[in-house]
Amino acid sequence: KLVSKKWKAKPTSVDLGDGIFIKEGEMAVITGPCSIETEEQIRAVVAHCVENDIKMMRGGVFKPRSSPYAFRGLGLEGLKLWHKIASEAGIKIVTEVMQTSQIEEMYPYVDVYQVGARNSQNFNLLDELGKVDKAVMIKRGISGTIEELLQSAEYVFSGGNEKLILCERGIRTYERASRNTLDLNAIPILKAKSHLPVIVDPSHGIGIRAYVPQMALAGVMSGADGIIYESHEVPEKAYSDGQQTLDFAQSARLAGWIRESFAMR
Ligand code: PEP
Ligand code: MN
Repeated sequence: KLVSKKWKAKPTSVDLGDGIFIKEGEMAVITGPCSIETEEQIRAVVAHCVENDIKMMRGGVFKPRSSPYAFRGLGLEGLKLWHKIASEAGIKIVTEVMQTSQIEEMYPYVDVYQVGARNSQNFNLLDELGKVDKAVMIKRGISGTIEELLQSAEYVFSGGNEKLILCERGIRTYERASRNTLDLNAIPILKAKSHLPVIVDPSHGIGIRAYVPQMALAGVMSGADGIIYESHEVPEKAYSDGQQTLDFAQSARLAGWIRESFAMR
């Protein structure tokens, strides 16, 4: 496989421009709300990122919700507004693309296209993202194996897009005490099998706010090249995933801990 270390030994470095990279040897910190909600909320998170030297912000404008009645996102208009505010502050945007028709309209406003867990094996979408000259982060499927994640990455890479990032976000197991089971085993295994950078998402991985920091740090120590976690000014009021979202004080502390533990690794 093209994404395997056998094919290419040198770790892939994903260049987002302006000196911002996702790559081995650096620790990418990506935070932001589950959903982009309002202009006020965007400004608050951007300011939080700037204050804490966080260069990449996450957020969904197209939300894959388990219920059709839940908030489904602000759509392209929300992305345009977010891009205006974030780019002025030098912050890169990581956001989910749900279908092929969105790729082109989103293009000017995104820095990393996120492929969500539910779309991890949407091979049409992966094929189309293979033709794009912009970074793509693929999340592991809800019941996806490590091998399946690598095969999904292979679709994009073989299509010609080598700006690829893998993300472990927890898998569905028999355990119901946590939302998902963050598979820390996947980190060293993915790092050994592939030259692509690997990011950990402890928020969806455990789904419980109080335990997100320790799972993030476990991710750092497992060898991850970055952490993506959810944060919001008032998590209790978040439109989605508030139960696993950190407030800004918790997020600031965690970002510091991530950097300290990475320096010790
Ligand atoms: C998200 O990042 O908010 C999200 C929907 O993630 P996942 O696809 O991993 O469930
Ligand atoms: Mn979420």
